[in-house]
Amino acid sequence: MTLETEIYKRRTFAIISHPDAGKTTLTEKLLLFGGAIQLAGAVKAKGDRRRARSDWMKVEQERGISVASSVMTFDYLDKTFNLLDTPGHEDFSEDTYRTLTAVDSAVMVLDAAKGIENQTRKLFEVCRLRDVPITTFVNKLDREGRDAFEILDEVEQELALDVVPASWPIGMGRNFLGCYDLFNDKLILVDKGKNDTLTEGIECQGLDDPKLDELLPEDALEKLREDVEMVRGLCPEFDLESYLAGHLTPVYFGSAINTFGVRELLEGLATVAPSPRAQPTKDREIEPTEKKVTGFVFKIQANMDPKHRDRIAFIRLCSGHFKRGMKMKHVRTNKMINVHNPTLFLAQDRELAEEAVAGDIIGLPNHGNLRIGDALTEGEALHFTGIPSFAPEILQKARPEDPMKAKHLGKALQQIAEEGAARVFKPLIGSDWIVGVVGALQFEVLADRIRTEYNIPVIFEATSLYTARWVTCDDHLKLKKFLDENRGATGDDHDQEPVFLARNAWHLDKAQEDYPELEFHKTKEQA
Ligand code: GDP
Repeated sequence: MTLETEIYKRRTFAIISHPDAGKTTLTEKLLLFGGAIQLAGAVKAKGDRRRARSDWMKVEQERGISVASSVMTFDYLDKTFNLLDTPGHEDFSEDTYRTLTAVDSAVMVLDAAKGIENQTRKLFEVCRLRDVPITTFVNKLDREGRDAFEILDEVEQELALDVVPASWPIGMGRNFLGCYDLFNDKLILVDKGKNDTLTEGIECQGLDDPKLDELLPEDALEKLREDVEMVRGLCPEFDLESYLAGHLTPVYFGSAINTFGVRELLEGLATVAPSPRAQPTKDREIEPTEKKVTGFVFKIQANMDPKHRDRIAFIRLCSGHFKRGMKMKHVRTNKMINVHNPTLFLAQDRELAEEAVAGDIIGLPNHGNLRIGDALTEGEALHFTGIPSFAPEILQKARPEDPMKAKHLGKALQQIAEEGAARVFKPLIGSDWIVGVVGALQFEVLADRIRTEYNIPVIFEATSLYTARWVTCDDHLKLKKFLDENRGATGDDHDQEPVFLARNAWHLDKAQEDYPELEFHKTKEQA
């Protein structure tokens, strides 16, 4: 098989949702269809595999949430899917955000009773930054939920996305009978009692097919016909270009727990979801079919093995054909790395057991030299763009229990910041470190890591700080003036870049007003 064909087969995607919408359940069902998996980290906390995980993951176990992302690869309909799992709990959204920089499309799962929730919206916004195409799955139709029209309307209004239903639900809750597949003119009925068997759809010649009269009760069929007529009047036709540009979402209805609607979703992804896309760098776009291998680090996971202080750097391959044992250039340090021991996430029965292509993810053991956003290439000095670092929403002071360990703590925090697990700022005045995260639970995980990995018991304390903004200005002198005049409210991040530490929203607004030439950034590009 040629490199091109291998690459075009890839579907690298993630699922975005608010906790409890059904992401884990859907993931399990997708894997069921894929029939196979190499699990890097289990889907969710179940059974022994969990217990074997490392110490700080106790936090995760105790709370029953999933901190670690993982990659799951499976084949279906001659496509190879890479599903990048993302932590569901809202306190770990930063990892989730980063993972979204490594996918080519996303599935948005909504709970039919709840519609778009807080976390759905945030994650969607990250997808929009990169125009990631979205496929929507409205879940839990086996329960009483909202009217399908209302949900479509909400998606359209709140996310400014065109919606095109791919299927239409027949009934809901206890009276949920199935869906009509609008793309393929098929009736798919719920097969009560047969949970994990895959019911074949029944082909129909449109909604006037007399077959339907035998298969559906009269009132349900009448409603289906009415609904579909209305839907076809209200919604645009599916337009591939518009979907790929991130302006339109096909919407599937189903019930993940009953494996209902999952096959249609997967077929949809196989058919229309994009294969690996070109990736932006400072100088040029990297086409996936370029012969030379390139990739970037989008995530670093610490402590996969508690006995070693190893971290795994997850790399999204952007081009070429990777083979175990290759030498790759680490662009930031200009050093060659011998990649003899990568983790490859492989579908079962894949011929290419030692290889990976653009769109795939590889994991490299790493002792702190690889950072989020770093490029690996066969020599070219590339800088991938669009891998953001997010302004923290909660800031706390960090100090060691033992004051003699202040210097060690500084080093540990520097490493953690480089890894991308938190923001770390050194205020110009004072000796404390300010650590910023997007979710409060991250402090617990950090304290645990710093204690076990660096042997430094650390205390986090509340501050009166509201948020941090990276400050830039084309005019060097103006920036310097700002920093001089605001010594009490500025500091450096781990790359020695200046940040403004605001006490409240007013303080931030005022600074922006007083220094109109300066830019205050909510995100910072990595690297
Ligand atoms: P996550 O937090 O998004 O990963 O959600 P889970 O997959 O863990 O699901 C949250 C809860 O919803 C669990 O109790 C699931 O059993 C339940 N659930 C998931 N899918 C369905 C569904 O299709 N119907 C119903 N009734 N419950 C579901």
